[in-house]
Amino acid sequence: MQRTPICRYARPRIAAMSAYSLKQRPCRVRLNANELGYPLPEELRELLMERLRRVELHRYPDPEASELRETLARFHDLESSNILVGNGSDEFITLVLAAFAEPPARVLAPIPTFSVYHMAATILGHEALEVPLTKDWHLDAERMLDAVRRYRPAVTFLSSPNNPTGNLFDEAVMRAIVTESPGIVVLDEAYGVYGARTYLPWLDEYPNVLVLKTMSKVGLAGTRLGFLVGRREAIHEVNKVRPPYNVNAMTQAVVGLVLERYELVAPLIAAVIEERRRLSAWLGKQPGVTAFPSDANFILFRVHPDATWGDAVRLHEALMDREVLLRAFPGHPLLHDCLRVTIGQPQENAAFREALTVLLASGREG
Ligand code: PMP
Repeated sequence: MQRTPICRYARPRIAAMSAYSLKQRPCRVRLNANELGYPLPEELRELLMERLRRVELHRYPDPEASELRETLARFHDLESSNILVGNGSDEFITLVLAAFAEPPARVLAPIPTFSVYHMAATILGHEALEVPLTKDWHLDAERMLDAVRRYRPAVTFLSSPNNPTGNLFDEAVMRAIVTESPGIVVLDEAYGVYGARTYLPWLDEYPNVLVLKTMSKVGLAGTRLGFLVGRREAIHEVNKVRPPYNVNAMTQAVVGLVLERYELVAPLIAAVIEERRRLSAWLGKQPGVTAFPSDANFILFRVHPDATWGDAVRLHEALMDREVLLRAFPGHPLLHDCLRVTIGQPQENAAFREALTVLLASGREG
């Protein structure tokens, strides 16, 4: 493979990084990116086409996205002054750091978790601190609290349900971290709808909490719409570092309409939860595989290294050869032997089960 030469003008810490990219080999069954596995229903698509016809593409979008923020506020029983919208929730990971962490600051997150926290902190010149989760992927209360007290992070990120482990974190430990933290704690509930839990009520109790949410996991990953919820004074600060017109006019129109007709999307979420139950049960019975419990729309599973059919990375490749794309974590200190499968439509999950069954069996014979 040809290596890209290092740009002589690059900042050393950027030169040492690699770009965020998912391995994208064109596969028929794509279960690698934690999207909702179903397209929006036809009825909703028709309504969206109507709505999009009226979008004035020659104008800049509403810079405050007022209508969309009002709709989000109604939907979540909040005030619109508690909400900011962004170009995916990814954008807010950077913006929260820009607003609350004076470089060089310390930024804390457990590991494994969503890699963008570490990436954004590094890009902005901070020190990213990582505290390993326990063996069963829970927060290590003692070590997390020790890191909070010792390093006084400006911002801490907790994803619950956590990506890529899938589990919800223990509430008592999360509360202790929030209470002891001198800085902001971002509670990222990207997968909240699949875990039937929200941390929004915590905003009344703790002034240092921000809740991060996204439409990407409920059928609108293509629109890139994330939103940040917090106390009015904290939201006011983040708004100062938000780029102008960060949410385009089409996204504002589409997301607003989908929220108004959410009853058409909700059954798809329920279908994913039911499929998750079935797939978890099946994975749990496969020899050489340990499936971890999930409250999200994906399942992490470990491929036991002593299995004759190879390691997780080889299995990932072999599944791709069979047109099934999962997420692998080659080189990751804690996840190199794991794969993550997003819950898809029943026929996609069946295709995954079939491919995995064949591969596991061929290993046992070979
Ligand atoms: N947080 C977590 C935990 C995620 O897994 C993801 C997406 N994979 C995001 C945030 C970003 O989501 P988006 O930018 O699509 O809103």
